[in-house]
Amino acid sequence: MQDRDGFIWLDGQWLPWRDATVHVLTHTLHYGYGCFEGLRAYATADGPAIFRLDEHLQRLEASAHILAIDLPFDRATLRQACREAVSRNGLSSAYIRPLVFLGAEKVGVDPAGAASHVMIAAWPWGAYLGGQALEEGIRVRVSSYARHHPNVQMCRAKAISTYANSILAIREAKRDGYDEAILLDTEGYVAEGSSENIFLVCDGEVLQPETTSALDGITRRTVCTLAAEAGLAVRSKRITRDELYCADEVFLTGTAAEITPVVEVDRRRVGDGRPGPLTRQLQASYFASVRGEQPTGRKWLTAV
Ligand code: PMP
Repeated sequence: MQDRDGFIWLDGQWLPWRDATVHVLTHTLHYGYGCFEGLRAYATADGPAIFRLDEHLQRLEASAHILAIDLPFDRATLRQACREAVSRNGLSSAYIRPLVFLGAEKVGVDPAGAASHVMIAAWPWGAYLGGQALEEGIRVRVSSYARHHPNVQMCRAKAISTYANSILAIREAKRDGYDEAILLDTEGYVAEGSSENIFLVCDGEVLQPETTSALDGITRRTVCTLAAEAGLAVRSKRITRDELYCADEVFLTGTAAEITPVVEVDRRRVGDGRPGPLTRQLQASYFASVRGEQPTGRKWLTAV
């Protein structure tokens, strides 16, 4: 990733891609204290546009607030920097990564004295879970690792440190031949994927876990709106592992993963082993929204 042409925004300056570096004593590198976002810009008929930019920046602000990290740039500055990260790099579609971290002004667990820094980079990124994932669906395993208890890592923050848990889970899943992991919470109820929220379809009803141990995903919220528009209510409830096994359809949602069908859980086929009809329907309306091809989607897009 480091050896590319292009520009990265760091603390208000546009730096050549290869020069956007930090010191090895950067506080966040040692203790993982910081927060980030992941957004996508899609090619639309009117040029590239960022999907739900303000909602992502609002979550970044909330993450910094939860972690008590100073965010030294206002919404308007970050909004403009995200747009320019796409345009300055000449991208027609992109993944955008803003990250707030503490610098090398001091070392030691207590971050007092370490300054907040913000970087924003954008690059092309195709289907997160692989080329066939969106079409054919993926195979998942229930992880041996639990998702964070909300009093261990506060899960509403998209905190860097929560991702060690995600990494352990996805590595375990891939090592065992699966595409992704599903983590249960510390009480044993379904929480989320390593970087996606999860939905089930059971007897025509769309279900999602309560999000106490999961990130409050923006794609998840989008799916709830699109489902409501299609006359499908989404019910939040505690979901058990065996409910997951017996679901008619399962799909994962995330900015990177978009809407990815799940066709197998722990070697048990989901439905008939192919992406189900409601998954397909919601996937189609999601892609129409992000590309500005339907009215609801247009209000969620910010032109670059
Ligand atoms: N859960 C986790 C742990 C994630 O990392 C992500 C990706 N940001 C999601 C859920 C989905 O969130 P969103 O739809 O906002 O990308």
